[in-house]
Amino acid sequence: MFNSLSDRLTSTFKNLRSKGRLTESDVNKTVRDIRLALLDADVALPVVKEFTSAVRERALGAEVSQALNPGQQVVKIVNDELVDILGGETRTIRFAKSGPTVIMLAGLQGAGKTTLAGKLAYWLKEQGHTPMLVAADLQRPNAVTQLQVVGERAGVPVFAPEQGNVGGHDAVGPTGEGTRSFGDPVAVSRDGIREAVSKHHDVVIVDTAGRLAVDADLMAQAGQIREAINPDEVLFVIDAMIGQAAVETATAFLDGVDFTGVVLSKLDGDARGGAALSVAGVTGRPIMFASTGEGVKDFEVFHPDRMASRILD
Ligand code: GDP
Repeated sequence: MFNSLSDRLTSTFKNLRSKGRLTESDVNKTVRDIRLALLDADVALPVVKEFTSAVRERALGAEVSQALNPGQQVVKIVNDELVDILGGETRTIRFAKSGPTVIMLAGLQGAGKTTLAGKLAYWLKEQGHTPMLVAADLQRPNAVTQLQVVGERAGVPVFAPEQGNVGGHDAVGPTGEGTRSFGDPVAVSRDGIREAVSKHHDVVIVDTAGRLAVDADLMAQAGQIREAINPDEVLFVIDAMIGQAAVETATAFLDGVDFTGVVLSKLDGDARGGAALSVAGVTGRPIMFASTGEGVKDFEVFHPDRMASRILD
């Protein structure tokens, strides 16, 4: 991921490094090259605009450091601005002061939420926490089983509605597909948290339903779950491979459910990835974690500074 963006930026800077002095036209040319590299990598236009104008302004400004030559200074400015659009400081879970920390997962179907639930639980367990998973994706019967498998792999208990013991109802999605929802995800989420309190789990991760595209029902359901469980964190999981649709999807979830952080999944893929990089810039929410494979350990805390260095390396 980000290889071609990285190559483009590196070659842009190669020409600069040898220059003893930068003219305004050098800066303009560099900014233009950066702009094209970002656009080609699928970074969203508003983010590109903000980014390039900040770089241009700072590069032409008077911040002259004796320690760096002009080319190195531009690289440093680009690095700083990249860290900024990626969310600035590293930020992970903020734990509740009392009671279990409730983490809700939201995102489109296939984004990687269920897989992430296992990874996050495993990561928390490694740090001495006692997480529990709650299966509140009742739109797809398989989702509950899938979370149970994920929980088993991570060695973490899963709270799920007992099938057959809950009143099912039919629902038809706007795309026309019939879905049989078995049980009420709001009630299951609430019961799951009650169970976590009684069993003294210190973190509860609630997996919610996704749809293939953003729709009003999905948002309404996620909003209701959010209201019922009052989560400490809502993590929006986004597939880094979805390209330009990332920004639109993220904005819809921000308006519909709101979220406190972003998880980029499938960063092991070979997509251009720039759209995913735009999500923090567009929503103002930090990228907290990255998913890099299907295994329970393919997961890392997202460090904006390290990612920027990796891209500019
Ligand atoms: P959900 O519908 O949001 O719960 O998504 P899932 O967790 O079911 O993931 C959808 C598919 O993507 C599954 O086949 C996962 O194995 C796969 N997947 C999830 N995360 C990653 C990742 O980081 N890298 C790769 N390569 N595949 C992933």
